[in-house]
This record gives sequence, structure tokens and C-alpha cells, in this order.
Amino acid sequence: MVPSEDWSWRIDAACGGGKRSVFFSPDGERGAARARREARARRICQACPVLAACRDYALAAAEPFGTWGGMTEADRRRHAQLMRRQQRRLRSAADSR
Ligand code: SF4
Repeated sequence: MVPSEDWSWRIDAACGGGKRSVFFSPDGERGAARARREARARRICQACPVLAACRDYALAAAEPFGTWGGMTEADRRRHAQLMRRQQRRLRSAADSR
């Protein structure tokens, strides 16, 4: 999927106003500190009016870093793996017809 060029949804983002550091991992962050920061970011995303547009953008762009649309980097990697697996199954089913 190709990400949209339209970034107008960002105007209504709940993560503006100095909250950006909650959404991206500082150097060396690991374990419980990372989990706490990501949980905080997810809570902000859940109340964000543009969550769907943000998540769709991040998935289409394969954003490698940060929490977008309530999904962490790990969430997006898992989602991409599931989509690839599903596409392989669909191709395989189509080939066997
Ligand atoms: S969904 Fe989360 S990351 Fe996306 S714009 Fe809203 S608050 Fe920011």
C-alpha cells in the first residue's frame, strides 16, 4: 500500500504540544521503561480523533519507529508478518484452484 500524501489529519492529532517524546524511544531504552512509555503513548492515541488515519498512514508507510495510531513498532512488525502470511495463504489457495 502506498501512503497518502495528505497529512491534514495531523492538525487534530492528540500528540501535539510537546508530547512527541512519549511516542519515540530514546537511545538505549529497554524493558520496563520502554513498556511504560509505550503504554502512555497508547493511552493518548486511544483518545485521539485521528487514530484511524494515523494508523493507516503508519502501516502504509511501514514506519519503522515510534508509536502511531496506537500501534508500537513491535505491533506494526507483527501486523506486517500476519499480512504477509495471509497473502501467502491466499496466493496458495488461488494457485491450487
Ligand atoms: S493516533 Fe496517536 S500518534 Fe497518531 S496522531 Fe493521534 S496521538 Fe498522535
